[in-house]
Amino acid sequence: MQVDTATKPESPTDRSYSPRSPTRFSKHIILTTYPGQIGIDPVPLNWGAPDAKSRGPVIASRSGTLLKRRNAMGAHGGSYSIYNALAIASGDLDSDFRPDFRNSEPTFNFPWQPAWADKTKIVSMDPYGHDIVDQFREELEAGWDIRPTMAVTRANMKLAEIGEAVRDGKLEVDGSIVVDSTGEVRVTKVAVEPVWYLPGVADRFGVDEGTLRRTLFEHTGGSYPELITRPDLKVFLPPIGGLTVYIFGPPERVSDENVKLALRIHDECNGSDVFQSDICTCRPYLAFGIREAIREAQNGGSGVVIYFRKEGRALGEVTKYLVYNARKRGGDTADKYFTRTENIAGVRDMRFQALMPDILHWLGIKKIDRMLSMSNMKHDAIVQSGITIHERIPIPEDMIPNDSRVEIDAKINAGYFTTGKQYTMEELATVRGRGWEKWEDVTH
Ligand SMILES: [Zn+2]
Repeated sequence: MQVDTATKPESPTDRSYSPRSPTRFSKHIILTTYPGQIGIDPVPLNWGAPDAKSRGPVIASRSGTLLKRRNAMGAHGGSYSIYNALAIASGDLDSDFRPDFRNSEPTFNFPWQPAWADKTKIVSMDPYGHDIVDQFREELEAGWDIRPTMAVTRANMKLAEIGEAVRDGKLEVDGSIVVDSTGEVRVTKVAVEPVWYLPGVADRFGVDEGTLRRTLFEHTGGSYPELITRPDLKVFLPPIGGLTVYIFGPPERVSDENVKLALRIHDECNGSDVFQSDICTCRPYLAFGIREAIREAQNGGSGVVIYFRKEGRALGEVTKYLVYNARKRGGDTADKYFTRTENIAGVRDMRFQALMPDILHWLGIKKIDRMLSMSNMKHDAIVQSGITIHERIPIPEDMIPNDSRVEIDAKINAGYFTTGKQYTMEELATVRGRGWEKWEDVTH
């Protein structure tokens, strides 16, 4: 394989870069590195090791001598890595900044699970990513740039639907989970950034590692040349969103097989989740999931909602709105729901649930008593990863907004779980969404 030169002798941009910090970069730009290159000596990283120390720290930094010792490609922060670069470019942040992690440790110590040491069970997050500060204290004190990729905290939250459920007598105030009559709820939260073990990720998608590396390289505009030049580096921090776990009730119950678990896996839909647009069932199902998770915790079990940053089936909002327009202009019926997406995105869904079960294994979940989801893709991914699902709970009919019937009925027809009506394609053609009749831009 032909790859461009590893180094350039000198770049004019170096000297003219910024008067504020003329020495921010070395004169040489290292475009990429190679396994046999002088000084290249990655810190050992044994994915699937039984503890953090024998596994080794994930080091992605290119700062100073770490360029030669790093054992991971990409950058910390997922999609926010670009903002980090902007902060350095603007001079607001020193490129050699080292965080002070004092008092940032988890509010709950999640118990070690066998899956943390199983390189087939967890491939898309660092199972020790929450415990970096404790495990690699010496290295941090010596100036190594090692960053947590997970954080565990606790919070109070207030959701309009939960307040209503309390007022309507559908949820009780117990003083511990639901703390007052306004519906304020206590929650433990876990934020997770993506850390990919490439051989494991390739395996999940049924492709060889080389194909995965080449495709990631080509279709990120050639942004990560080491995907090609450093086959010895197996870990990649991709520039994508992560996930957040919301745990209701005592977090130690999540992995307790003797109590019931209610769980919702929710993929981001900003328009509905936050701004409550009514074209889909996302926010109502999320609110229902939270309510049932709270109820299970109040009954002595555990409730978990996991929120994945996969906006618009991981197609993004621009594609999503283009699809909305195509739907509304083409006569919005449920039989054409998926075709409209396929026309614009090429596929109907890019969420690929193959990596999703990792977080469940990290939490030590072995069975789900009440799965608050109708998605067959999520169900199949979880079951295939070895977790049992006892019961699937569809969104209640009275929580489905009128305009979102198109979406939910099309999904049911395509295989989504339901205990209600199944539609034929002929019937779907009669399930119609709201038009734009009252909007000036289409009546002109
Ligand atoms: Zn939605």
